[in-house]
Amino acid sequence: NQRKDFLHKRSREIVNAYDCVCIEDLDMKAMARSLHFGKSVHDNGWGMFTTFLKYKLEEEGKQLIRIDKWFPSSQTCSVCGYKNPEIKDLGMREWDCPRCKSHHDRDLNAAINIRKEGMRIVMA
Ligand SMILES: [Zn+2]
Repeated sequence: NQRKDFLHKRSREIVNAYDCVCIEDLDMKAMARSLHFGKSVHDNGWGMFTTFLKYKLEEEGKQLIRIDKWFPSSQTCSVCGYKNPEIKDLGMREWDCPRCKSHHDRDLNAAINIRKEGMRIVMA
């Protein structure tokens, strides 16, 4: 219940702050099998969180955009669009784009790409 309460509060804060939220449609079963995430994703806190987000957004006429899990959010340079196949390794937390030389934090770069892709879908 403590965690559920936390997920309700966080989703409320996000819904209050934004009109449109873009998330990656993560494959939680595959993540549970991976060594990097393991058991922590088995209990599906993420699924619960996205359910809360979706209905809270819809209540206010706002939108949740799910980005396909195959969209290369981590591998793509958010500055120039170069796709770096080495970034599939989850251990690589930061990288430099070989084309435009931008320095990336893995998660921030992925988030920027997810937002761009979400806006592309909304505008289409
Ligand atoms: Zn680049």
